[in-house]
Amino acid sequence: MVDIIKDYSNYNPPEAESPWIKFPEGTTTIRILSHSINWKSHYVRSEKKSHTCTGDISTCEWCQKGDQPKGRWAYLILNRSGNEIKVMEVGWQIFGTILQCAKDADYGDPRKYDFKITRKGTGLETEYQVIPGKETKFTEEEEKALKASGLDDIDKATQKLVSYYEKEDVPHPADEE
Ligand SMILES: [Zn+2]
Repeated sequence: MVDIIKDYSNYNPPEAESPWIKFPEGTTTIRILSHSINWKSHYVRSEKKSHTCTGDISTCEWCQKGDQPKGRWAYLILNRSGNEIKVMEVGWQIFGTILQCAKDADYGDPRKYDFKITRKGTGLETEYQVIPGKETKFTEEEEKALKASGLDDIDKATQKLVSYYEKEDVPHPADEE
């Protein structure tokens, strides 16, 4: 199968087709579509790869080596800066803020408003800043895309999210935290 590129202005190069969002430097506005999923993971620097922790020292070789697993969280999101549906995998730095907003009576359910995620720096120097955004309505185009894919339904969105983590061969973003 080949793609015919007629419109360069909306064309994203193939690596952008990864289901995981990689935040560029600057601010990206997103809207959460799913529940959150959570697990623990070991980032192995020499392999540039994450390994899911079994949570049991008798079966996890990285725990046995003395590495502390880190909490990871993921959401299915709508990238409102690019009108695309993506998986957003985050560490505590970002999740902690989402959680704080979700528990705050002024904000509540984190699917009801945007989040603005600002990335500064690269590699180990990467810093993320998260602030809650507005309760803006979806654009007509966004609404159509969500309805057509059924992802306006939180359970369907969560199923879709989980399905990416059940496929082992999908290239996984290396955590840079
Ligand atoms: Zn472990």
